[in-house]
Amino acid sequence: MDKKTLDRLIEKIDIDGPLIEGMGECCFEWKGCVDDKGRPRFFYNGTGGLARRAFYEAIIESALPDGVQVMAICRNPKCMNPAHLFAATEHDAHALAGYSNLSPNGIVNLRKVMGETGISAEELAVTFRLSEPLMLRVVAG
Ligand SMILES: [Zn+2]
Repeated sequence: MDKKTLDRLIEKIDIDGPLIEGMGECCFEWKGCVDDKGRPRFFYNGTGGLARRAFYEAIIESALPDGVQVMAICRNPKCMNPAHLFAATEHDAHALAGYSNLSPNGIVNLRKVMGETGISAEELAVTFRLSEPLMLRVVAG
């Protein structure tokens, strides 16, 4: 993504978004248009795409493989805060969608459990059927 396009994308991000419980910093909310599922949309490369994916790929300076999607750990559908975004495989995305206890509150509880019991992210990943890198990302905050 060229600098002009990235600047245009960043202009649509409000860095004073809501502070969701369990998150260390506030959300950066998308002010541009969204699709029928509430996902931020951004027009670039001559076509409309998902703004989060475009932003994430610009940050990591690489294209994500097909089947990998960008999700927000805070569950705010408009969040663009890079600290809240993570790349998830389809498997991870399905697993996350199925576990309501991985809400921001649930994540706070998970971190507490890890601190008090010494249970590892690896063990939690098995319990929650997430990949270990994603579980590490979840509990790191
Ligand atoms: Zn957020």
